[in-house]
Amino acid sequence: MSKLPSTAPRWAKSFMHDLIHQTDYIVVGSGIAGLRAAIDLAEAGRVTIFTKAQITESNSMYAQGGIAAAIGQDDDVEKHYADTIAAGAGLCDAAAVRVLVEEGPLEIERLLQWGADFEREGNALSLSREGGHAVARIVHGNGGLTGKVVIDALLARVRANPNVHIAPFTFFSDLITDGDRVIGIQFEHNGKFASCYAKATLLATGGGSQVYSQSTNPETATGDGLAAAYRAGAELRDMEFVQFHPTVLSLHGAPRFLLTEALRGEGARIVNDRGERFVNELLTRDEVSRAVFRQLTSRPDAKVFLDTTHVPADLLRKKFRHVYTTSLNYGLDITRDRIPITPAAHYFMGGVQTDLSGRTSLRGLYAAGEVASTGVHGANRLASNSLLEALVFGGRAGAAMKEESEINPPLQSSEPSSGIFATVNQNIRDITWRYAGIVRKARELETGLELLDRMKEESNLLTVARMIHECALAREESRGAHYREDFPAPAVTIFHSYIQKDRALKLL
Ligand SMILES: Cc1cc2nc3c(=O)[nH]c(=O)nc-3n(C[C@H](O)[C@H](O)[C@H](O)COP(=O)(O)OP(=O)(O)OC[C@H]3O[C@@H](n4cnc5c(N)ncnc54)[C@H](O)[C@@H]3O)c2cc1C
Repeated sequence: MSKLPSTAPRWAKSFMHDLIHQTDYIVVGSGIAGLRAAIDLAEAGRVTIFTKAQITESNSMYAQGGIAAAIGQDDDVEKHYADTIAAGAGLCDAAAVRVLVEEGPLEIERLLQWGADFEREGNALSLSREGGHAVARIVHGNGGLTGKVVIDALLARVRANPNVHIAPFTFFSDLITDGDRVIGIQFEHNGKFASCYAKATLLATGGGSQVYSQSTNPETATGDGLAAAYRAGAELRDMEFVQFHPTVLSLHGAPRFLLTEALRGEGARIVNDRGERFVNELLTRDEVSRAVFRQLTSRPDAKVFLDTTHVPADLLRKKFRHVYTTSLNYGLDITRDRIPITPAAHYFMGGVQTDLSGRTSLRGLYAAGEVASTGVHGANRLASNSLLEALVFGGRAGAAMKEESEINPPLQSSEPSSGIFATVNQNIRDITWRYAGIVRKARELETGLELLDRMKEESNLLTVARMIHECALAREESRGAHYREDFPAPAVTIFHSYIQKDRALKLL
């Protein structure tokens, strides 16, 4: 069992010994969305953050490029709004995008006040430019470890607040409902199941890209929040939209380490094993991913490389320090060696549907960050908009949860029951990669579903895989990150997909 820090408040110290707990606000997940919400919530009551690994393990921690916000001299919120809407390929929620771009600069300001050490040029913040952005607007830090810079700042604030209790290595297994109201959660710690009740519960569990065998995400990203919300009857939206990143290290025995697209911005080339370029490297992520995927599947031993050997070595070592040193650990010097790559699942645009304050279709349940579908990303996410979304909508969810005043006492029959454990099934990951991956078609999606239906053991990964297959099968068009070989053009009518337990899938 992980030890609570000696500074933990008294109400927290006995936490792991009881089977039934009560707090004011539950936050599940310790990425940027969860921590940002917890800071606001702690002003109104006791907050318990449940997180399944150590507190610092999350997708947020690995974010490299940075956070998009309209703060440059030549930028304004209208330009950021227009770029976000264009990337979303017709499916963005205009009101949500407006909130995102307008409140973004305030969140950056707040982070600076909270001690985030972003890189500067002179007195001004250094801003980089990424694909799809009309101007340089990406705030970044620590040589490509931007996520860590943000987490450090948020975590320092959270740790200093006696109202927040952190429960690491604690697996959230299910939501507890009373009618259509979520009143708490079930969790597992050290093999023991227990329950916690609260006025409001925030899912900040991130995405589920681990449902693919090729994924940039850490092992924690298994879509647990998505699956639990589905089981509890919440509505999920646009689950077929998964963003694949085209340039991910592909080396036997090495993790799928992301090679940031800023490298291509500096002239890095993508070449096949004959050294030929076959795609314009500055196209969108989904276009480049498809081109790389097609090369790799053209013959059994085909290889694709990212080639940075012509980029000035000093620039690579300084601006891409994190990529440079990590690659060296795997025996590759990016100033001299070409890097073998594969596309990999990277980000879930869809998720638990929310309003602009993180409210879901179930009372008492909120969602923020990658687990949520606020509508800001539509069919494709603009690079560096997800950290911003986690900050803006994490803050908004926290503010809205403070308004919940109804105390939810434990249910009479609230014996904690054993629930879903965190099992990662390689078969499911292979099936999803093969049948609901970068290039999709009806016959393959149906095969994928049949194979999934044969699986005996229920798991979060299986629920997420099924949702992706079903929604991808229903969307008979290609739009944004969803590409159907049998329907290669976008449909005339624009629609979302909605999936909910025991209801027919809706296209509206
Ligand atoms: C390699 C990489 C680079 C990226 N670079 C960028 C970038 O430069 N800019 C950008 O905007 N976005 C980037 N992204 C995307 C971005 O990092 C994520 O979308 C964002 O961090 C999501 O934040 P979050 O708080 O919603 O979730 P996360 O940061 O994923 O946090 C989820 C938390 O929930 C916990 N959790 C999950 N399930 C359970 C459970 N069952 N019980 C308890 N706890 C649970 C996890 O342990 C974790 O603490 C990148 C992603 C990756 C993987």
